[in-house]
Amino acid sequence: RTVYVNGEYLPENEAKISIFDRGFLMADGIYEVTSVLDGKLIDFAGHAARLERSANELDLALPVDMDELIEIHRKLVELNGIEEGMVYLQVTRGAPADRDFAFPDPDEVPSSIVLFTQNKPGLAESPAAKTGIKVISIEDVRWGRRDIKTVQLLYPSMGKMMAKKAGVDDAWMVEEGKVTEGTSNNAYIVKNGTIITRHLGNEILAGITRNAVLRFAQEAQMKVEERSFTIDEAKDADEAFVTSASTFVMPVVEIDGAQIGEGTPGPVAKRLREIYLEESRKAAV
Ligand code: PMP
Repeated sequence: RTVYVNGEYLPENEAKISIFDRGFLMADGIYEVTSVLDGKLIDFAGHAARLERSANELDLALPVDMDELIEIHRKLVELNGIEEGMVYLQVTRGAPADRDFAFPDPDEVPSSIVLFTQNKPGLAESPAAKTGIKVISIEDVRWGRRDIKTVQLLYPSMGKMMAKKAGVDDAWMVEEGKVTEGTSNNAYIVKNGTIITRHLGNEILAGITRNAVLRFAQEAQMKVEERSFTIDEAKDADEAFVTSASTFVMPVVEIDGAQIGEGTPGPVAKRLREIYLEESRKAAV
């Protein structure tokens, strides 16, 4: 695999980052994952805009501009022959001379940037999307700025392990009795034809897929409510699903052992998945 690191395209085993990089020592960094379908980037503008926002919120200097960023994405997709898959991008605060909690001066310590591709043939024809996935609920104990897409992913990883241990696919996180989001996706329920998903704020990541899916839902005259909901409300819903750049729209058929609807992907989730794939393929760059 050819990867990109700080201005160079290299074989992955030759790419190097300092052990003093603050991404490594302090999880001081941000990332984006953009999916690739038909060899093209899905929702690239949204991911680029969120990267800039995350960087601004953390006073983190981006080492490339948005034109360079899309060029690097495209070149990696081409060099690695990706038809379906993902491009992972990470920017960290770089490697000061020594470990220190205070941020280094960005004029003296440049940020590090790394990109690599993940080849996922059959990404759109996901078998999981045909059966739906099962989730458990867990307490959301993450920090209070989940709107920033940082590489601090230890708790979501622990959540995935809790799900695995419980014999299911993923976990929905709950705070003050309300669902925030999935470990790596936004969470939705459908009741009496209305799509319900938590409102934006510091408590969740503003998913790029969420934004697109809600727009498509409204364009298709579906009813959308952006508000928080409880796990009990979710268990009693007609349908549930999650969205993310890597899974698009993924039906959820079980929550904490309770079957949702018929226990199979519901019509709203199926339709949204179809619309999302079709529209975003058309708009891919
Ligand atoms: N919430 C969290 C916590 C995530 O990690 C992700 C995936 N990065 C999402 C939501 C979905 O965001 P997107 O649609 O931009 O992939």
